[in-house]
Amino acid sequence: MSYCTLSSDEKYRDTFEPGIYVCANCGHELFHSKAKFSHNSPWPAFTDTVRDDSVVKEVETESQSSSNAPALKVSCGNCKCQLGHEFLKDGPNEKSRFCIYSESLSFLPHKENEQHSVSE
Ligand SMILES: [Zn+2]
Repeated sequence: MSYCTLSSDEKYRDTFEPGIYVCANCGHELFHSKAKFSHNSPWPAFTDTVRDDSVVKEVETESQSSSNAPALKVSCGNCKCQLGHEFLKDGPNEKSRFCIYSESLSFLPHKENEQHSVSE
């Protein structure tokens, strides 16, 4: 088992700017900022990934204690770096809660003024 990083902090927990979260190790696109939601844990929480192949998942426990829902181990779909966990039906509206280490993420804010004005 290899961990790219084990330390977790609250770096991105309270970040809600528009943008995209990519793998800190390889730059693979993982989560949209619009999938992020507030959760009372130290880790950033998301309801869904950018694409189905953003992450790979494996079942860790069939029933985790806090919600009785299965917990999945989540790793980067590209470099297989461990990112955190997905707790099924533990997010808003019965969605998943992806509980991801800040240290495994890099945040790329959307650039506001990227639109080119077309003058004719
Ligand atoms: Zn990666």
